[in-house]
Amino acid sequence: AKHEGKGHYRYYSIDLDKQAKLKLKISNKLRRAIELEEFTLNYQPIIDIETQEVKGAEALLRWNNKELGCVGPDIFIPIAEEIGLINEIGNWVLRQACWQNKQWHLAGYSYLMMSVNMSSKQLVNDDFINVVNNALVKSQLEGSYLELELTETALLGNLEIAIEQIYRLKKMGVCIALDDFGTGYSSMSYLVKLKIDRLKIDKSFIDNIPHSEDDRITTHAIISLANNLNLQVTAEGIETEEQYKYVKSTSCNAAQGYYFSHPLTADNFKFLLDKSPTF
Ligand code: C2E
Ligand code: CA
Ligand code: CA
Ligand code: CA
Repeated sequence: AKHEGKGHYRYYSIDLDKQAKLKLKISNKLRRAIELEEFTLNYQPIIDIETQEVKGAEALLRWNNKELGCVGPDIFIPIAEEIGLINEIGNWVLRQACWQNKQWHLAGYSYLMMSVNMSSKQLVNDDFINVVNNALVKSQLEGSYLELELTETALLGNLEIAIEQIYRLKKMGVCIALDDFGTGYSSMSYLVKLKIDRLKIDKSFIDNIPHSEDDRITTHAIISLANNLNLQVTAEGIETEEQYKYVKSTSCNAAQGYYFSHPLTADNFKFLLDKSPTF
């Protein structure tokens, strides 16, 4: 409002200044995070709705810096993309996640899938296929136990390159999931063109289930679309029993969310596997 005039503006600019400084600090700390071993991966269980057992994990990056404390990936990933660090960080994530899955395979859980989030900048990198291949070769993990999660915006920004890269990944047996599905510019034609294996229904559609009829209809429509295109489908962000009951009543294949488990350390994920819970 006008009568707040200068005062308002002043606060705003101090805020921006603070934000810019914090961003600069995060950028500087990020550059050394790998060598200082400040990154870890947490693993969120993914539940097979048919068997009700843990069938895989999504690797989620965690950063704990001495001075800044824990900074969430929603904050530092976009900064890493902006300052050109995402490929280096993404490579670390891929190697670590493949290695960890292989350890679980060797421990007797040889059916586990590992899902890894990809930034659009990684997919279009010339070296990307090599990086994925190296992570698989080094860990001795078969490609079919690795799933890469891409977002619609990442794919549509570089559709031609994305189609080519996905083609190469699929030749290596690697699976492709479309993350946060429904929030972007969903178009049926590119779903088919891109040869995607799985849709992950965004949490925002699950949040108001079972109460919101609109969201039930949307979720059901996404699941039908996936079925008709022969794609697997995962519901993300399941927090309540009602939400789980709802997706169980559909032909959704997999579910993930705090209702089953928060993201866990590797050790705690292994404890969970050893308990072999059914949900
Ligand atoms: P995402 O890929 O959509 O991951 C799901 C996010 O929702 C995770 O947050 C997870 O901890 C959280 N979540 C899972 N279940 C529930 C639930 O039931 N309720 C609620 N409220 N939240 C739930 P997180 O770990 O903070 O990650 C945020 C985003 O950061 C991810 O969203 C992903 O886009 C990005 N990210 C995380 N790790 C990586 C990575 O290694 N590489 C890249 N490029 N991005 C990553
Ligand atoms: Ca994801
Ligand atoms: Ca997601
Ligand atoms: Ca997301």
